Amino acid sequence: HAKKNGRNNYQFYMESLNRAATERFSMERDLNKALENEEFVLFYQPQVDLASRRIVGAEALIRWIHPLKGMIAPDTFIPIAEESGQIIDINRWVLQAACNQKRDWLHAGLKAIRVAVNLSGYKLSSQNIIGTIKEALGKDSADYQNLELEITENVLMQETRETLSTLKQIKALKLRIALDDFGTGYSSLSYLTSFPVDVIKIDRSFVMGCITEPKNLIIIKAIIAMGHSMDKRIVAEGIETEEQFSLMKALDCDEGQGYFFKHPVPAADFAEFLAKEKL
Ligand code: C2E
Ligand code: MG
Ligand code: MG
Ligand code: MG
Repeated sequence: HAKKNGRNNYQFYMESLNRAATERFSMERDLNKALENEEFVLFYQPQVDLASRRIVGAEALIRWIHPLKGMIAPDTFIPIAEESGQIIDINRWVLQAACNQKRDWLHAGLKAIRVAVNLSGYKLSSQNIIGTIKEALGKDSADYQNLELEITENVLMQETRETLSTLKQIKALKLRIALDDFGTGYSSLSYLTSFPVDVIKIDRSFVMGCITEPKNLIIIKAIIAMGHSMDKRIVAEGIETEEQFSLMKALDCDEGQGYFFKHPVPAADFAEFLAKEKL
């Protein structure tokens, strides 16, 4: 029976491999049409100042409304787009859409807030990000300070010299740079001194267990102490409970994001939420 089972396992393995490859291929093909068919949409999640509990920013989070499959989460298609290079066009679309939204909110009389955009993808330096930013923000130089770019360590790990030069150009434009998912990589600390980073976003895996896991608490305290000593703003990701909110506030964390405050929502819902905020 061993031989038969071995063959079955092999067949099963090949079939699932095939299925995965086919799915990947069809997603890549569909992604090509997604931009021209305007199937992408940005959701927004508030970033809250923990001391005052006021909304100070919004993180733009992309969703893909697939004509047949419905809403697809970014973790499903962003990695594929990164590998295929389609991420370059997606990054450009996201930057443009977020900047337009920011402008619309201002014109609608809502209070000025920061908007944070996720920039992923290898070879940041070869994406003409600077040109895209200038195009998206236009002439209004005051706007530049309210645009924040979130990058992760894996962006910094690739083409380090070119990436550093790109980040310096971004800083010269007065944008802010946030290091997303902080603490999950393996050389986080050295990145903080080597790259011009303004904001540290503590990964939600630490925040989630901050009450029950003493180890997480130790790491969070260390990140906040170190970040503050380097004059960086600290944002806690994934605050889901009142307890976590109180603890992060007590630890002098500057800002927070999470389901406790609000889930990511479409732009219109976000505007309503922002307008209702007590002044
Ligand atoms: P991220 O930038 O770390 O975004 C935070 C993720 O955590 C979002 O998932 C958000 O919906 C989720 N989240 C927020 N609060 C909570 C909470 O209290 N509990 C839990 N469990 N989750 C929470 P989302 O929107 O599915 O995005 C996943 C990732 O996809 C993002 O992680 C980011 O890396 C990437 N991404 C999202 N939008 C874009 C985009 O426009 N461009 C690029 N390149 N990547 C994007
Ligand atoms: Mg992010
Ligand atoms: Mg994150
Ligand atoms: Mg993430």
